[in-house]
Amino acid sequence: MLLNGIEGRIEKNVSLKNLSTWRIGGTAEWVVWPKSVAEMEKLWRFSQQENIPIRLIGRGSNLLFPDEGLKGITVVTTSLTSEVWGECSLQAEMGCSVARLAQEAGEKGFSGLEFARGIPGTLGGAIVMNAGAHGGEIQNVLYKVMVLTEEGQIETLSKEELTFGYRECSLRGKGWILAAELKFKPGKIETIKAQMAENLAKRKAAQPLELPNAGSVFRNPPGDSAGKLIEQAGWKGKGIGGAQVASKHGNFIVNVGNATAADVLALIQAIQRDVFEKYGVELRTEVHYMTS
Ligand SMILES: Cc1cc2nc3c(=O)[nH]c(=O)nc-3n(C[C@H](O)[C@H](O)[C@H](O)COP(=O)(O)OP(=O)(O)OC[C@H]3O[C@@H](n4cnc5c(N)ncnc54)[C@H](O)[C@@H]3O)c2cc1C
Repeated sequence: MLLNGIEGRIEKNVSLKNLSTWRIGGTAEWVVWPKSVAEMEKLWRFSQQENIPIRLIGRGSNLLFPDEGLKGITVVTTSLTSEVWGECSLQAEMGCSVARLAQEAGEKGFSGLEFARGIPGTLGGAIVMNAGAHGGEIQNVLYKVMVLTEEGQIETLSKEELTFGYRECSLRGKGWILAAELKFKPGKIETIKAQMAENLAKRKAAQPLELPNAGSVFRNPPGDSAGKLIEQAGWKGKGIGGAQVASKHGNFIVNVGNATAADVLALIQAIQRDVFEKYGVELRTEVHYMTS
């Protein structure tokens, strides 16, 4: 593949296991870690001109990659991490770790990202997923986003031009988030740090962080908890192949060794069928199965 003018790392035939926190997936034909927004644009234009499939990922902490692998170009945002802090505000590129931004905001006495301290994704991934926890959501601190649209235009959109829902944002699948501006509330450093420490402790106690996983697999049904329903249905500790429902948390599927995407998909479907038969509740997935 002839990619002139890209200084970022380019690799051929990369195991998708290395790009996902679940450590699952076949081989990605090409993987590029662009170093600038200009390189992102170049990659996008190149893929359109050459008719090559292209997709964007962040930390791969909400993704299931296919066993067959992915053709074309997989763009990883994690090298784009510039950040400029202002008075209770931040302009940051999409590849910044949202957990690290939360920590830095806390150290400055900026409140609003306390919920994000234990979320392993990037800022771009967090916005597209409207990531949230402990009663907080990324939309509550979002002010503006810079987006590369599907038509190849760079646009700045205010939060009011977007719609958000539970783990949903209208930008999903509608372009690439390049950067964002966040606005915080002033807070006391000690209070913010204590809140983050409490949130982290809750995660450590409840989540099977010692094994590869992708966080919550299913969305919570309205007024209910997916994890509780799965636990009541008797799935904790049960699995298919290398994929197992964590003994610690019913909504986590852990990779206990060489799990395949087929294992995870079969387990997801078996759980969905069983929970529907037992409780009449349709569980919808929160994780994305990225097939193209
Ligand atoms: C241990 C653990 C705990 C977790 N806890 C939480 C939690 O408490 N709350 C929560 O909400 N989530 C949680 N997650 C899930 C995950 O971390 C979040 O959804 C995160 O926001 C995903 O970010 P990412 O960079 O990993 O995105 P990826 O998984 O790489 O991508 C997810 C989707 O976003 C798209 N995307 C990524 N970057 C961009 C971009 N710049 N522009 C446009 N589209 C983009 C991708 O194409 C893909 O469709 C957890 C995951 C793990 C492993």
